[in-house]
Amino acid sequence: MMQKNIVQVIRILKRRYTSKGMVDFGNPEDTLIATLLSARTRDEQVLKVYPAFRKAFPTLKHLARANVKDIAVKISSIGLYRNKAKAINALAGRIMSVYGGRVPRTMDELLTLPGVGRKTASCVLWYGFGKPAMAVDTHVFRIAHRLGWAKEKTPEKVEQELMAGVPKRLWGEVNRTFVQFGRDICRPGTPQCWRCPVAKWCAFETKTRKRKQ
Ligand code: SF4
Repeated sequence: MMQKNIVQVIRILKRRYTSKGMVDFGNPEDTLIATLLSARTRDEQVLKVYPAFRKAFPTLKHLARANVKDIAVKISSIGLYRNKAKAINALAGRIMSVYGGRVPRTMDELLTLPGVGRKTASCVLWYGFGKPAMAVDTHVFRIAHRLGWAKEKTPEKVEQELMAGVPKRLWGEVNRTFVQFGRDICRPGTPQCWRCPVAKWCAFETKTRKRKQ
């Protein structure tokens, strides 16, 4: 797709979806932890437990020193909570010992943290530090394919394709707008193409029509 059409699609979605990203806490530490907690879990579930969880462990130092079981108890209503508790304890320990208690600011450094993959690292870079990054989650992956912006089969490769096609200043907006668009209209399974504001630029061959009532 031509870059001017890509820009047009993002512009339309930006106008329609104005809420901030779920993990956009305005600081890297909360964005990092909330993104890690949100893997394979509904965002609402994370937001529900997050305030009490951070009240119990207000700093990375608390999380690094805590017993993994105590962390797990506080997040036990979310998916994979035991593994996530372990990762959070370990990453807090690493940030304390290697990075002087501050969340690192580069992709390479973020990727050395336990439990952190490229999507989480990109969310921290963009939502936490305001640095351009392309966070490819399931919504971004699916919608990029439907629009015809990506063809590759892995999130890592799709990230490369998107970084090549989308102007850098808009990288962060792709994740924020696509997550909301993906829940609202371009849903997993059957997208609601009949009410899609960017259908005219979409390559999805079998655009869906509204079922007759
Ligand atoms: S036309 Fe359909 S498949 Fe394409 S972006 Fe819109 S909702 Fe998604």
